[in-house]
Amino acid sequence: MGGSMSLDTTKRKETIAKLQSEEWDLLVIGGGITGAGIAMDAATRGMKVALVEMQDFAAGTSSRSTKLIHGGLRYLKQLEFGIVREVGRERAILHRNAGHVVHPEQMLLPIVKGGTFSKFALRWGLWLYDRLAGVRKSERRTMLTREEAADFEPWLKVGGLLGAGLYHEYRTDDARLTIEVIKTAVKHGAIALNYAKVEQLCYSGRGAVVGAKVVDKRGSEQFEVKAKYVINAAGPWVDAIRQMDRSLEGKRMHHTKGVHLVVPASALPVQNSVYFDVGDGRMIFAIPRGDWTYFGTTDTDYNGLLDHPAVTSADVDYLLGAVNRMFPRAELNRSHIESSWAGIRPLIHQVGKDPSQLSRKDELFFAKSGLITIAGGKLTGFRKMAEKVVDVVAKRMRKSAEKKTFGPCKTHKIFYSGFEFFSSNEEEGNVYRLSLKYAVDKVEVHWLDSLFGSNTEAIIVAAGGTDKLSILRSTIRYTIHHEGVMTFSDFFVRRTAMLYFGRKWINDCLPTAKEVFAEVFGPDYDPDPGMVFEREYQSAVEFE
Ligand code: FAD
Repeated sequence: MGGSMSLDTTKRKETIAKLQSEEWDLLVIGGGITGAGIAMDAATRGMKVALVEMQDFAAGTSSRSTKLIHGGLRYLKQLEFGIVREVGRERAILHRNAGHVVHPEQMLLPIVKGGTFSKFALRWGLWLYDRLAGVRKSERRTMLTREEAADFEPWLKVGGLLGAGLYHEYRTDDARLTIEVIKTAVKHGAIALNYAKVEQLCYSGRGAVVGAKVVDKRGSEQFEVKAKYVINAAGPWVDAIRQMDRSLEGKRMHHTKGVHLVVPASALPVQNSVYFDVGDGRMIFAIPRGDWTYFGTTDTDYNGLLDHPAVTSADVDYLLGAVNRMFPRAELNRSHIESSWAGIRPLIHQVGKDPSQLSRKDELFFAKSGLITIAGGKLTGFRKMAEKVVDVVAKRMRKSAEKKTFGPCKTHKIFYSGFEFFSSNEEEGNVYRLSLKYAVDKVEVHWLDSLFGSNTEAIIVAAGGTDKLSILRSTIRYTIHHEGVMTFSDFFVRRTAMLYFGRKWINDCLPTAKEVFAEVFGPDYDPDPGMVFEREYQSAVEFE
């Protein structure tokens, strides 16, 4: 059995058997974007890779971000020019390789009296940013006068407005990006298993880490995975793994929480993404996505449970206040909120710094046991982070007794799952072509295309009908067989983001989802173990 089966949930037993039966070059702990990137990089270089994730893929921070591939304006403010250059290059690569989930988006930055940026600073800051980040000519910044800015974004508060800068950021869907990267890794021979938790590390007689004891969270079986190298990519949980390794010394993680709220686009009809001052020295985003606008984020120290961080009333008041000050016409209140999410930033602690001042840089920690930990970082930089980690592993392998050699990183020049089109024409015309060819409503095809890109056709073909329900059934089946979906939460939260953007449709979809899960797994299968999804569904609009 090759790795390609491992994302078929109906083959889970075989996948577990395969994981135990071999020695892997690399065991990656964590199926967020960091672990996914490492698995993809290593697999495409030809390494034998296993990845285990204790929840669902991307269920940690990698489905709870602002969903931007940042060009790094904030780094410019902190004078970290190297990072600005690197992330500028990265977002261009991601747009080229995973264009169905990484789109350029205009961003308006209003200049206000007493705000973060003066007109002068923004003009030169964005000029420098365009040069450092290698921004395409067509996407370079434009400065707007006060009147132009007010025309551009009519709901903007005009009192105190001095003008605006218009530049480009890239919007993504973090959880989709993560699953596409994992699918790409699996296509290149990696094996990946969700709901599989590392509970203990295994060591050789000499104290070198040589694998892990893993528990199947959807069964109860414990099994061992043997590997030459073990990578800790557990995001907010990296210190728990370092603790298991008894190597938690020196730098520690610092967790901060960030919250986003979603309202109908009609309640906050921004024409573009807007990045604006809260008034307390921080800035937040308001981002249009289809029929919705979402905004955030907060940034507060967090010491609670990492699994299900909650949105509190204080978070809601803070964000509604900030939006209403910048867009007074909106008069948003709690009744407008259609959904929300909270995420934990895995940052590296720096003495005496406030949450917003902590660096977003990534760092590697090397333990005596050989365990390699990658901590900190951003969604945006995952490909480079992975390259760094896999370079270290490749070097160690070259120097080891086996003297195995692997080539350099390839992930900048491959197309990721969902972006395997024959040509850019095919990509651009995908929705039109498929809706014509299969007589499926354009709205449906567009929804599928924005999530699954070039895999959309397979879903439509397998649907056997062109109506909404047939397409939904086929989509659920596809995610079970090709994307490791085991629960309602996997499907509605991370594979389709419907809990955030389209929560009101979920009740209509649930009966169909129940039927499909029962058809595939049998009538006794529980698609919402522990009623996790039911709680997520409620807590998206109810605050502590
Ligand atoms: P995670 O996604 O948390 O993945 C780690 C995984 O390890 C988890 O899924 C967890 O379940 C698993 N795990 C832990 N322990 C074990 C174990 N024992 N066994 C098996 N698995 C285990 N970045 C950007 O570039 N752009 C943005 O717009 C942006 N906005 C953000 C907004 C907010 C509010 C937050 C919180 C972050 C934001 N970030 C952004 C940062 C970005 O989201 C994170 O840096 C990134 O998602 C971290 O990914 P990760 O894989 O390291 O961690």
